[in-house]
Amino acid sequence: MSETIQVRNPATLELVQELPVATPAEVAAAVARARQAQTGWQATSFAERARRLYRLRDLLLDQGDRLADILTSETGRPRAEVYGNELFYLCNAIGAWAKHAERYLKVEKISPSFPLVKFKKVISSYAPRGVIGIISPWNFPLTMTLGEALPALMAGNAVVVKPSELTPLSALFGAELALQAGLPKDLFQVVVGAGATGEALIDHADMIAFTGSVETGKRVVRRAADRLIPVSLELGGKDPMIVLKDADLERAAGACVWGALMNSGQICTSIERVYVEAPVYQSFVDKVVDRVQAIRQGKSADTIDIGCLTSEAQLNKVAAQVEEARAKGGKILTGGRRNPNLPGYYYEPTVLVDIDHAMSVMTEETFGPLIPIMRVKDAQEALKLANDSRYGLSASIYSRDKQAAADIADKLESGAVCVNDSLVNFIIPEAPMGGRKDSGAGYRHGAEGIRKYCQQKTIVSDRFGLKEEFPWYPATAKKAQQVRHLLNLLCHSGWAHKLRAFTALLRS
Ligand code: NAD
Repeated sequence: MSETIQVRNPATLELVQELPVATPAEVAAAVARARQAQTGWQATSFAERARRLYRLRDLLLDQGDRLADILTSETGRPRAEVYGNELFYLCNAIGAWAKHAERYLKVEKISPSFPLVKFKKVISSYAPRGVIGIISPWNFPLTMTLGEALPALMAGNAVVVKPSELTPLSALFGAELALQAGLPKDLFQVVVGAGATGEALIDHADMIAFTGSVETGKRVVRRAADRLIPVSLELGGKDPMIVLKDADLERAAGACVWGALMNSGQICTSIERVYVEAPVYQSFVDKVVDRVQAIRQGKSADTIDIGCLTSEAQLNKVAAQVEEARAKGGKILTGGRRNPNLPGYYYEPTVLVDIDHAMSVMTEETFGPLIPIMRVKDAQEALKLANDSRYGLSASIYSRDKQAAADIADKLESGAVCVNDSLVNFIIPEAPMGGRKDSGAGYRHGAEGIRKYCQQKTIVSDRFGLKEEFPWYPATAKKAQQVRHLLNLLCHSGWAHKLRAFTALLRS
């Protein structure tokens, strides 16, 4: 009997659907079919690819309610979030990639600077890699699957997605709509399963775009090394927020609560730790607590602000970090427990203070609805603590002093920084997004976000058609001397050397 996975609604713990797991042989067959479909797709124009993605966008909009039904059933997220972030992201990203792909991938003319090759004609072009394997997490089941596939498809690739075993239904729905939108059969496929299915995809695809945890990312790279295929890595984060004493505290508190609690904190760029300058610390904490206490947590069908966590393992991880902080002297101002009134994996939105970097809540990714706030004496201490992390995905800084904020933004060891804003960098597909340190390698979004799905090729052409070129055989002592003189003439910074080389060349 074939292996299956059960998709459960984390809000109700009810079984939603049971799906067969794709075996390694089935994954290999899916990649082979994708390879067939890719050849025809590669031959289409950018305009034609864009036209089909626009049709896909219309279908997503037309079927937004069905998408919300499916996505909330496997995540327990509020319906409003499905429209407000998943659908919003897809609509925005389809527009951006359809508009910019051709420009990002146009043939580049290269002008060599060194005189000896200056007159060669040099161009560089981008060609699709073939079949891209996308391995995704569960926190944004459509954005991280179909959304990640958009630039790969616009570049002329086929895509096989391995969604998280917790949330495969949205990706399957995306594949259904892609077919209806006119994408060729087998061009965008979904293989269902857990780690073993992901490993099989690494064994057959031409590149892997991985989004997930640091630990799994390392395993993916090790496996891909055997085939020497490229891997892009979008990994975890522990994003700091810094609030300086001159910040607009209302805006900062509102952004903090939204940036930390949206999707119950299950966002790679969630605010995970907050550093506040001493003079405004208490006032900021009070404002945050007031706002958190007004948050409505509940089932996705209701009018709520936040839903549940997506798995029991995630719930346990969040609870363990809070318990450890409590045991080490941390104080919980609100929340701090599993929500006793709801059946699913609900953890109450929680504000912690009296915490420090000896606690995992300040050093390890939480991926849950926690807001740990730490008092700092000044901006320099905030910066030092913000950079005291193995992660470097994104960060935010709040201050009315634009120059001070810009200076700190520059010094933060982070792939992106929002100034007087939070989370917003993720929804600008034109802006490169990538992690430093353990948060990843490579970029999604921006020119790099599509070029990574291509092989670059350089073509160098001769312009003059001479019968002989200087470096060709035979090699002689005279030629070697002439090269030496020429290099001295062109490259030496001393005028006396240049002059000597010039006369030597004339004499030779
Ligand atoms: P995970 O690492 O547990 O799983 C990610 C995917 O990898 C899943 O599809 C899983 O089935 C698959 N997988 C597991 N073992 C594998 C193996 N040996 N070979 C191939 N594939 C394997 O991550 P998760 O818990 O699903 O997601 C949460 C993580 O994702 C968090 O750390 C979060 O920060 C990160 N994330 C990062 C970004 C970003 O842009 N940087 C975006 C979203 C999520």
